[in-house]
Amino acid sequence: MNRFSNYVNELFKWNVEMRRFLETDNVEANYELWQQLDEFTELIESTGKQLSDEELLSLQAKAENIHERMENYFNRKQQEVGNIWISEKTVPPGGHTLPELPYAYNALEPYISEEIMKLHHDKHHRAYVEGLNKAELNLKKARDNNDFSLIKHWSRELAFHGSGHYLHTIFWRNMVPKKGGNPQGILRAEIDSYFGSFEKFKNQFSEAAKQVEGVGWAILVWSPRARHLEILQSERHMLLTQWDTIPLLVLDVWEHAYYLQYKNNRGSYVDNWWNVVNWNDVEMRLEQAVELKWAAF
Ligand code: MN
Repeated sequence: MNRFSNYVNELFKWNVEMRRFLETDNVEANYELWQQLDEFTELIESTGKQLSDEELLSLQAKAENIHERMENYFNRKQQEVGNIWISEKTVPPGGHTLPELPYAYNALEPYISEEIMKLHHDKHHRAYVEGLNKAELNLKKARDNNDFSLIKHWSRELAFHGSGHYLHTIFWRNMVPKKGGNPQGILRAEIDSYFGSFEKFKNQFSEAAKQVEGVGWAILVWSPRARHLEILQSERHMLLTQWDTIPLLVLDVWEHAYYLQYKNNRGSYVDNWWNVVNWNDVEMRLEQAVELKWAAF
């Protein structure tokens, strides 16, 4: 069997599973998901043995579209069914706390000494938490007074201390006493498929860490867009971003985005831009983003 017929075979199986899924959840027979799935079934049943690349791509696109709609459908239903979310802990402005270490200060010895861990967690991480709270509270004050004269300063503080707090929170949990070994399961599969092997991944990650310019981090990330892993270097840890957050609404203020029309008047470009914001898109991104829940600190 070649890889094309393999794929069509997978689509058949997937189609059957989707139908079963809709049936067990008692989705109304007239719901548009059923209609789409029916059309899709007809389509794959009518396809001949040999498919061109374009036909396959088109099939794949249709399958992905249905998949996305189904996910959105079930996500929305969950929200309606359970109000559990509302009572879940969220962090108000200035409400961040220092997470406890998930192990003793000396637990990572001999690799990392107790002295380092104490200082690193109780002094350095705590300072990030306090700095982040201060930045959030000052930005709240700025909103309340409609005075944004210090927006650059507090945005920088928000990024610096926010990234510091979020990355350290990940860092402590990324480590565990007396473990090491090799990654397993889906993580191992993704590493192998993107980096070639665990060895190659490890070499690149180590070199990225060793060669960070000045101070900073090596960071393994998942890209929901590319659907693959990647290794990034972060110099210091911000350059005005907060790691561990998901962009929802972005505004390009590079000159190429407005100069031809607005010349140096960035302000009126920004003011006018609000007329073309697609809030449905922003809401959709948020709906998907809130599905991802880390413990709140
Ligand atoms: Mn640190």
